[in-house]
Amino acid sequence: MPAGALRSIHEFTRDELTALVASWDFSPVHAARLWSCVYNGGATRIADLDELPVRFRTRLEGEISLAPPAVASELHSADGFTRKYLLALGDGRRIETVLMRFTGRATACVSSQAGCAMGCGFCATGRMGFQRHLTPGEIVAQVMHLRRVLAAAEPGRCAAPAETPNPPGAPSRLRNVVLMGMGEPLHNYDAVMKAVDILRDQHGPAIGVRRITLSTVGVIPGIVRLADAINPPHLAVSLHAATQAERAALIPVAARWPLDALLAACRYYVEQQQRRIFFEWTLIAGRNDTPEQAHAVGRLLRGVPAQVNLIPLNPIAGYDGAPSDRAAARRFQDILADYGLPSTVRQRRGLDIAAGCGQLVTATAAEEPPR
Ligand code: SAH
Ligand code: SF4
Repeated sequence: MPAGALRSIHEFTRDELTALVASWDFSPVHAARLWSCVYNGGATRIADLDELPVRFRTRLEGEISLAPPAVASELHSADGFTRKYLLALGDGRRIETVLMRFTGRATACVSSQAGCAMGCGFCATGRMGFQRHLTPGEIVAQVMHLRRVLAAAEPGRCAAPAETPNPPGAPSRLRNVVLMGMGEPLHNYDAVMKAVDILRDQHGPAIGVRRITLSTVGVIPGIVRLADAINPPHLAVSLHAATQAERAALIPVAARWPLDALLAACRYYVEQQQRRIFFEWTLIAGRNDTPEQAHAVGRLLRGVPAQVNLIPLNPIAGYDGAPSDRAAARRFQDILADYGLPSTVRQRRGLDIAAGCGQLVTATAAEEPPR
């Protein structure tokens, strides 16, 4: 069977894999071992499964692939904290995925789509347009790739000459996942939520659902579904403006999902889930960083248990806005604090390798027809 016809192991939840294995008349014990070899043992080839019977491995070979996505290229930031990988998917499409290492934590920033249909002008992914949704397995595979990278960079392990070891204090285990790479996760709701189910599996990647955050441009039907879901990931909503007119000027889809309805959906999420919500605000100098706008945010979010993450604009080709300076960001934060709104200014990391928010793009892939 050609490799393309095989399904990736990462497309399956543990229950689905168990059912599939049962349909081949093999014991569920084999499914459990296979799952553990892949998610705990790091198996990436059928040949790595030497504790499983040959007959089972032969069957697997014809049905399932354990192969990770091919790395088309990788970039390491000069400070050693950030790495960006260009991964080639089975159909020739390419996506970017980013590993961010901090003191005390490591975070995977993964893509949910190749490109994005939402068309925000200040975002490189938006400017490249939409190519396709990613499958659950393609989302899970990004996390597994970054987990292997992190483990390989552990101090004392034999690293390739080009390897940058983990910075001091950085953990070698990946515990946090943000769906903030390429694409709009709530435009690909079912695949994203299935990937989250696989990632949170206690016998699998075991990434706590409270350590997974999904960022949306404001797709209201998706927010409502998330609000009604059982124990969904954290929600971050890209706000960027506190009036409908200003928001629609920055985010084209705000015309479809207006600010008042968006806030109502956010309040519903908070009520249903009894949790706070994050709002993202890309700080663009002179555009949305004035004291008046900070006061408008304070009034808009009154009574919502929220945290605001301020992201100074990262440079991208084709958009000539500038990031707000430290003083403007500080002033914005101080005003939010007067309304009881906690906020952070996101550390600007990985800009030398274009791995910051909104900078992910696969221009070359866009020019290539899918194979
Ligand atoms: N599609 C989702 C998630 C991916 S983008 C969303 O829009 O929320 C992740 C975050 O980066 C969003 O808050 C987005 O608005 C922000 N962003 C996009 N372009 C940016 C840029 N050039 N500089 C800083 N932040 C940017
Ligand atoms: Fe898509 Fe988010 Fe970029 Fe907007 S900011 S184009 S929604 S990835």
